[in-house]
Formats: sequence, C-alpha cells, structure tokens
Amino acid sequence: MDADIVCVGFGPATAGFLTTLSKQLVNADGTPAVESAILPGMPPQVLCYERADDIGFGVSGVVTKARALRASFPEIKTAGIPMAAPVGEEKVLYLLDPHGASRRSAALLMADSLIRIFKFALPVENHALNLPWTPAFLHKHDGMILSMGQFMQWVGAQVQSTGTVQIWPGTPVAEALIDRTNVAQASPPAGSPGVSPGVSAGSETLQQPAAGTDCATSPSRSKVIGVRLLDQGVDKKGAPSDGFTPGMDIHAALTVVADGPIGPIGRQLDEVFGMPDGHHKRDWAVGMKFVVDLPEDTPLKAGTVLHTFGYPEPEIFGFLYVHPDRVASLGIFVPSWFDSPTRTAYRYLQHWMLHPYLWRYFKGGKLRSWGAKTLGESGKHGEPHLTGDGYARIGEGSGSTNVLTGSGVDEAWATGTQLAEAVLELLKAKKPFTRQNLDETYVKRRRASWVEAEGRVAEKSRDGFQKGVATGMIGMALAGLTNGKLSLGHAPVQPWKRIPTVEDYFAGKISGDEIAKLRDECKTKNVSLHGALMDKAGWPAIPFDGQLLVSHQDALLMGGKVQAPHGYADHVVFLHPELCEKCGARICIEACSGQAITPGENGVPAFDREKCVHCGACLWNCSQTNPENPERMNIAFRAGTGGLHSAEN
Ligand SMILES: Cc1cc2nc3c(=O)[nH]c(=O)nc-3n(C[C@H](O)[C@H](O)[C@H](O)COP(=O)(O)OP(=O)(O)OC[C@H]3O[C@@H](n4cnc5c(N)ncnc54)[C@H](O)[C@@H]3O)c2cc1C
Ligand code: SF4
Ligand code: SF4
Repeated sequence: MDADIVCVGFGPATAGFLTTLSKQLVNADGTPAVESAILPGMPPQVLCYERADDIGFGVSGVVTKARALRASFPEIKTAGIPMAAPVGEEKVLYLLDPHGASRRSAALLMADSLIRIFKFALPVENHALNLPWTPAFLHKHDGMILSMGQFMQWVGAQVQSTGTVQIWPGTPVAEALIDRTNVAQASPPAGSPGVSPGVSAGSETLQQPAAGTDCATSPSRSKVIGVRLLDQGVDKKGAPSDGFTPGMDIHAALTVVADGPIGPIGRQLDEVFGMPDGHHKRDWAVGMKFVVDLPEDTPLKAGTVLHTFGYPEPEIFGFLYVHPDRVASLGIFVPSWFDSPTRTAYRYLQHWMLHPYLWRYFKGGKLRSWGAKTLGESGKHGEPHLTGDGYARIGEGSGSTNVLTGSGVDEAWATGTQLAEAVLELLKAKKPFTRQNLDETYVKRRRASWVEAEGRVAEKSRDGFQKGVATGMIGMALAGLTNGKLSLGHAPVQPWKRIPTVEDYFAGKISGDEIAKLRDECKTKNVSLHGALMDKAGWPAIPFDGQLLVSHQDALLMGGKVQAPHGYADHVVFLHPELCEKCGARICIEACSGQAITPGENGVPAFDREKCVHCGACLWNCSQTNPENPERMNIAFRAGTGGLHSAEN
C-alpha cells in the first residue's frame, strides 16, 4: 500500500506532529493546500500506526509546563480535558527511612542523623524533610497536571476530525523498510558506520534489531521507504499458523519514527545507521505508576505536585500528582544507576506508598489503574541521527527528554511540531524528503529551539549519579544553576558491567547459604526471588488491604487489565538461552513489571505475553551482554500487541 507519510507510534511527539500538520493540509474551501504525490489532486495521505490496542493506552506523563501544548492549542483550558488541573502547590521531599531497611551510604546516613537531631528547627514531618528551597528548574509553575492517556484520546479525536489523518491503534509496526540502492547527495553523518562491501542491491527489509543483524549500512546509500506491519496468525515463535496474514508493507515518501524509548523501529535505525560519535542510550529509568481514588476526606487539593527522593531506596524518585475529583497519579522511577539485582518496581512502589508521610494520604484509597513504562534518561547523549533519506525521528526516542527537569511530554510534542512545519515547507516547495532537505528544515528548527537550548543545559546533569545519590544531586544542582556549564561524574556504564550478584549485594545481611535456600524455594514455586530477599533483608511485610495494597497478580486483574490478542509472536525473546542458563542474577525475572517473566525450565526464563505491560524493564536490565553487540543485552524486545487496557495513565 502507498501513503505519502507514515508515522510509527501515537505518543505526544506524533500528536504534536499531526496536530500541526493536519490543520494545514487543506484550505478553508476544502481544496488541498499541498498535494499528494500518490493521489494527485488530493491532500497528502497520512497514516499513523499505534501498537497499543487503543489511543492513549501506551503513554504516560502527567505534569508539564505545557509550553508546546499551549502553542498548538492557545485556547486550551484544563476544564475541557478529563483529569486535567492547573499546577498548584509544589513540594520536593527528602524521605528518611523509618525502617532502616534501605541501603544508604555513610554520607547519607550522616545527613539523616543530622536531620533527625535538628528536626525541631527543620521542616521535618512524618520522617520527611520538606526542602525549604527548590531551584526554579524543578518547578512547573503555570503548567498543568494531565492524564496523558485522556489527553491523547482528546488529541486523537481532534486530529482525526480534520479528515486528513488516519490513526490505526492495535497495529504494531514490525520494521522499517530500507532500500539500499538509493544514493543520496549528502555525505553520511559523523560517526556513521562505513559502507559495507557487498551491501546488496534492491529493496530489502531488515530484520528486528536482534543478534546477528547485519547493521553495516550507510545512511548515504540507504533510504527508508516505509514500514512493514506485524504478521498475524503466527505461533509464539512467529511461524505461520491458522489464519496467517503477512504484515502489510506501507510505502511512503516520509516515515516519521516516534515509537518512544523502547520502540523497535527506533532501535532498528540505531543499529542500522549507528549512533553519532559518543552518543549512547545507557541511561533509563523504569517508571511505575498507580492511578488511585484518594479517600473521601483527603486534604490534598487538585493541582498538588509532590516529588520525593531518599526512600524506599535513595536512588528511587517518587511523584504524586493530584487530579480533580480526588483522583491522584502516584509512582516511582527505578533508574539505571541503582545497582541492585532485585530491582522490583512493584514492591518498591508499595513501600514508597507506605512511607508515613505519604500513607496518611493514601490509606483508605483505591487502585483504579496502573502501568509501567521506560523513561529514556540519556537526553541529548541519546540523540540518534535525527534524519536520513526518507525518515525523521521525533520525541523521546530522538533524545528530546530533558533529564534535568524530568520533562518529556512538552519536548516530544515540540519536536513533532517542528517536523510538521518542516514537512509543510518541503511539501509546498515540492522538495523531496532527503536527509539534506530534512536537516535544512526540521533539524535547523530543532537546533534553534528551546528544546535544544534546555537539552544542552541538561546534557551532563545526571552524570553524577554514576558515583552515588549525593554526588548525583549535587551534580544536578550544579548543572541547573550554572546553565549546564558545570557538572559532576562520568559517562554511564551499562548495567551488565556494574550490577553485582545477589550474594554480593546482600553480603552482611543475608548469607550465601540462606540465599541458596531462598532461591531453591522460589524456583520450586516458580516465582521471582525479590520478595523473599526483601523480607529477609528487613523490609516490612506489605499489609494487603485488597484495595490499594494488592498482590502483583491482583493488580494485573484490576483496573487497566493486561490483554494480548492471539495470533502474534512473542515480542520478548531470550536470544542466547545458554547465557540464561549460566546467568546468576536473572534480573529479567526480578525486574519484570507484569510478572510476565518467570523462572521457566532448564534455566531459561519463560515469557507470558498476556501479562506483559510493555515497560521495557527486561530489555534494559538483562545482566548479560549480547555477544554480537555490547550495547545490547541478551533479550530482544520486538514489536508486539497488547499491554495494559487503560487510558488513565
Ligand atoms: C511513569 C512515567 C511518568 C512520567 N511523567 C512525566 C511527567 O510528569 N511529565 C513529563 O513531561 N513527562 C513524563 N514522563 C515522560 C513522558 O511520558 C515521555 O517523555 C513522553 O511520553 C514521550 O513521548 P513520545 O511520543 O516520544 O513517546 P511515547 O509516549 O513513548 O509514545 C510512543 C508511542 O509509540 C508506540 N509504539 C511503540 N512501538 C511501536 C510500534 N512498533 N508500532 C507502533 N507503535 C509503537 C507506543 O505504544 C507509544 O504509544 C513520564 C514517563 C513515565 C514512564
Ligand atoms: S534474559 Fe538476561 S537476565 Fe534474564 S536470565 Fe537471560 S541472561 Fe539472565
Ligand atoms: S516482559 Fe513485559 S512487563 Fe516484563 S519487564 Fe519485559 S516489557 Fe516489562
């Protein structure tokens, strides 16, 4: 099938792109403002494919300054959007550990003692220090609290009502189609791999970015010519079965890649075209979020924003945003620099909720829905080649997220609008979507924008966390207060190089023999190890209440159920089973947000598609490197259907 423009993913970046584009494709009298190349006399045919089963099921992000959103919708009022509220009171809290179960450095323990000694003179309440001053860069004054799911549904309706754009949810893109016969006029970007001798001629598609992929392809000779959708009617391994329908090829002059931080198409292009010199995507966090009904007598007002650090582990950041009607979004981020082999976001989220400062607000509340998602934290370090012949990249997968301010929605949206303006300029000038033309229009706009300027300030702001939380916080403050001129720390190291074994991590708290016993018990029950280890290490038991504190399995069944349609291949694949067999840490099992990965048989984990929430934690946390590519792990995370069914997140 042919289209003029095909988009991969409908997150905030594509929403910004399509909002700007769709308004300008047709004149007020209904005639095309610009013409389609495939249907002369008609406006350009624009298609968008979204993996999740409906619009708004695959996104997250709730507090935003909304500068780019307001530029697109100058009349926007929070009152018109479900679950939206203007930002009100903002607080940053340092949470002390009331149980002594977390791992705190000597410096942090000393700071905790000082806070406790001088609490009479400090704003300390319920084991939490309310930071008396927070730098301006952390504030979201004049911004708004949103449910991105709700907002995306609203935007989706606006965009489709123009009649110029089609959005297809429940339709994952399997891969980009790459034509290697094209020779562009421009030279390859710095840092691209050289032209591979023997690069085949003809139009061919590349496989998913898995082990053994031939990635030695040069942007100067390759052109993205569209996308291939996912095969249907296949078994778990992808072999044709009942009702086999091969994924359709969509050919388009421009492919807009906006599939977010774990998108398989973005990662395919990263492999095929390489990253610019010195760029990498080694920083990430897995965010887990609950949407809850607060108790009827809650004192929290709509618009309240709380950010926390220090507990349940010093490395884990938390957030609470209050929507209208007593609904709140709350959650935590487990970052890549947290060197724990038991990185269970679910259990840590429960301990975070139970912190005395927060539990007084949550007690009596009820879980409505939940979700987990990766936050790409490499920022500008993670910027890939933004353009190539026939394609452009926008949003978080293009390195737009600001890692200093923790803001991603507005930035992703802004890059989408910049691309739309560039595309309209090129369409009007009847110029092709070559890398050079896209650089001169889209990249030029992006480089001149606030996204770029603020991204540069933020670029090294998180490097200090490689040396610990205290250094990290100082590094962030330095970068923020000096406009990025000063920073601390060093470039990130991949988790497989730094995460210790379970035995090393719990040394002094749990003996090797006890760990071996717990491991055997958990293996017999086919469950992950983290719960048993945390119990043993002194974490209090979770007082399940059937409302908000529920088992992980129950959460999968409550609001925001996980569903995966039949007839699709497994999208999580253990590439080298022999590496799993000898893997001691098995972090994929511990970190899985949906308990979709279990110990399995013969030492190789088992994957259950029907529990996967598409958070990407397994992809990042695998403790074994891929022998073919040291930047990749032993897990492939491919295009897949399903995930959570909730548009509240
Ligand atoms: C828990 C959490 C809380 C956050 N809170 C905030 C916040 O308060 N404020 C803020 O500004 N930012 C926040 N963020 C960050 C914000 O969510 C992201 O920066 C933003 O969503 C990025 O937008 P995007 O369009 O680039 O990518 P995404 O939002 O990731 O959208 C990508 C889309 O592509 C789809 N997709 C993926 N693969 C395919 C495929 N193969 N085929 C078709 N479709 C595909 C996905 O389903 C998804 O809908 C938060 C992130 C998390 C994880
Ligand atoms: S997928 Fe990675 S973390 Fe999981 S068992 Fe295999 S090698 Fe270990
Ligand atoms: S299997 Fe799915 S739910 Fe589990 S960690 Fe991987 S992406 Fe997340």
